[in-house]
Amino acid sequence: MAKFVAMALHEVRGHEKLRDRLAAVIAANRFPQVSLLIGPPGVGKQRLALWVAQTLLCEARAARGPCGRCSACRRVLDLSHPDVHWFIPIPRPKAPDPSKQIDEADSLLGEVIAARRLDPSYERPEGTASHSLASIRLLQRRVSLTPALASKKVVVLGDAERMVVQEASPEAANAMLKVLEEPPADTVIMLTASEPQALLPTIRSRVVSIRVNRLPDEIVQEFLEAIGVPASPARERRVLLAEGSIGRALSSGSGIDAAEVAADRFLAAVRGGPGKWALAALAQPPWAARGDFTALLDGLAVRLRSRVVEAPQQNRVKLRRYLAALRRVELTRWDAQGNLNPQLALAVLAQELRDLL
Ligand SMILES: [Zn+2]
Repeated sequence: MAKFVAMALHEVRGHEKLRDRLAAVIAANRFPQVSLLIGPPGVGKQRLALWVAQTLLCEARAARGPCGRCSACRRVLDLSHPDVHWFIPIPRPKAPDPSKQIDEADSLLGEVIAARRLDPSYERPEGTASHSLASIRLLQRRVSLTPALASKKVVVLGDAERMVVQEASPEAANAMLKVLEEPPADTVIMLTASEPQALLPTIRSRVVSIRVNRLPDEIVQEFLEAIGVPASPARERRVLLAEGSIGRALSSGSGIDAAEVAADRFLAAVRGGPGKWALAALAQPPWAARGDFTALLDGLAVRLRSRVVEAPQQNRVKLRRYLAALRRVELTRWDAQGNLNPQLALAVLAQELRDLL
C-alpha cells in the first residue's frame, strides 16, 4: 500500500474556463510539449501547471480534468510523484565544483519541496533565489531519465524569468534553450512567468504561451477563508489590495505592517524634497539587510495600490500618475533581485516619485 502524507497542495481555485479548455486539449492529446503560463504574480500559475500535470498523469483519463482520487493524482498533490519535476528558484549553490553544485541544487530543491508539502500556503521565494546553471543542469539530468511510474514526465519551471536576471551571463537560459529545442518525446515542460519580457526571445519563440488571468475577489476571499483567516475589515482590505492574486493576499498577511510604516516614512521624505529623501536613502543600509529594502518596496507598492483603488475614477490624470508611480516601484522591486545598490536606487526612486505624487 502506498503511504500518503497528510498535507497536500491547496485545491486549484478559479480559472474554470481555462481549465476546461486545457482539459479538452489534453483529452484530445494535443497539449503542447513546451508551454509558458503567463500572468500576474500569485494568481496560481504553478498550481495550475501542477493541475495540468495531474490531468496528464491521471489514471482515470477523464475528459474534464484529473479525478483527484487515483494514486497518480494523489501523488502529484502531495508532491511525491517521481515523474513530476517542479523547479522553484533556490539560493545559488556554493560548491566550487560544477557537478557538486548540481547535487547541491538537488538537495536545496528537495528542501523547498519538503517545506511546501508541510505548509502549502507558501509565499514567493526570496528575491535573490534563482534558477542558476546548476538548477538547469539538474533539470537536464531529470529530463533524460526514463519515467518511473507513468508513461511521461512533467517538468514545471516556476518563475522562469529568474533564469536570466540573476546570471552574469545567459548560460542558464542557453542550457534551458537546448532542452526546449529537443525535449524527449515522453516529456512535457511548462514554464511560468509574470515578466515574460525578461525571458530570452529565443526561449519565448519556442513555447506555446497560455494566458492566466487575475482571480475575482470572491475567489481570493474564499481562499483566505479556507486557510482560516477570520472575516474582518482587515481581511476585506487584504482581498482588495491583493488585486486578484492569492500569492499577494498571502504575503500581505505577514510583516507587511512594519514595511508599510517604513513606506510611509519614505513617502513623507519624498514630499519633503531632495534634502529629506537623500537622508532617507542614506539611512538604508547599503548591502546588508536587503530584506528590509525589498520589504520597503513592497510596502510602497501596497500604499500606491491603495491610492490607485481610492483615486476618484473621473480624475484620470491622478489615476495615471499613481499607476506610473506604482510601475516605478515595481520596476525597482524587480531590479532589487539583482545587484542593485539600495541607497542609489532609493534616491532615484524618490526623484521619480516626487514628479508623480
Ligand atoms: Zn486521477
